[in-house]
Amino acid sequence: MAIETTSIKRETLEKLFSNWLSEGKRILAPKKLGDHVDFALVGSLAEVSLDQVQTVQSPKIAVFPRVEELLAFQSTDGNVQLRERDLAVLPETVIFGLRPCDAAAFASLKAIFDWDTPDKLFSARLEKITVVGLSCSRADEYCFCTSVGGGPGAAAGSDILLTDMGREDFLLEIISEKGRQAVRSVSAGLQPDAAMDKESRLARVTPAFTVEKISSVLAALFDDASFWEKQSLRCLGCGACAYVCPTCACFDIQDEGGASGKRLRCWDSCGFGLFTLHTSGHNPRPLQSQRWRQRLMHKFSYMPERQSVLGCVGCGRCSRACPVDMNMVEHMRAVAEAKP
Ligand code: SF4
Ligand code: SF4
Repeated sequence: MAIETTSIKRETLEKLFSNWLSEGKRILAPKKLGDHVDFALVGSLAEVSLDQVQTVQSPKIAVFPRVEELLAFQSTDGNVQLRERDLAVLPETVIFGLRPCDAAAFASLKAIFDWDTPDKLFSARLEKITVVGLSCSRADEYCFCTSVGGGPGAAAGSDILLTDMGREDFLLEIISEKGRQAVRSVSAGLQPDAAMDKESRLARVTPAFTVEKISSVLAALFDDASFWEKQSLRCLGCGACAYVCPTCACFDIQDEGGASGKRLRCWDSCGFGLFTLHTSGHNPRPLQSQRWRQRLMHKFSYMPERQSVLGCVGCGRCSRACPVDMNMVEHMRAVAEAKP
């Protein structure tokens, strides 16, 4: 559908929050938690933190929780009974105030979870979320959305996109039918947007590299062991970059319990040595340099080639979180300048 542009006063937005809650939706939004801001359930707009460049964790927890039950099992006298998840009870969720890069990340996750055999649990969660993005008025040195097809005011992935225009006014863009339904209860309070200049409120993010160049150079660099060793020398394999990433989707499956118990899906990372360790003891990626190569190749070469979507939205979280300052933009520039 064509994007509908309007505006909304903060007090009407407050009312919309109450309406969503009384309709039984839960609202996940950036919230100040001690010394950092992260996604948490909120009960009012007043609880939402709007000013940070980014949250520490991404909102992928709404569709891909850190740990989730896939099924329960019970074994009695050799007979095993399975109980699948009841997808109908998954909560309707509004993710409010996420940045445009995070909204765009749902397409990357969907490409992974829908590839080959579609993942029913992921799809059911995705169907039940409404994405209310918030344009960025500030960026930092780690942001590179404009290098990977996004931007501080980009609409892709959001059902509704808000831009803070100051003086308690927000520009409100309705992007999808889901978004239109989400604001229906306050439609009388939406105003024409005539005098609002969205561009003037957006952060400036200068493109740092061209992704087409990266994808083609990466394929030719695959066998250049010395390049990958040099690039990954500092990497500790701690997995922080993967855990904060809105598009990383590696997981492990564990059974918990004995004769009765649960099958759990848990976050994992291709940066961990154990991730590819076979029962035989063979590990196809025994070196950290190979695991770092896998991380970059998957995001910038394999996914565009196989699924026509990048595995990175330029949020910069991996660089902010890395304890040894592995900076994604610097790595991309090194790839772009390499001579395979
Ligand atoms: S956060 Fe840094 S050190 Fe840890 S695995 Fe990622 S790149 Fe390596
Ligand atoms: S790889 Fe880094 S910059 Fe790209 S989406 Fe993941 S956390 Fe964000």
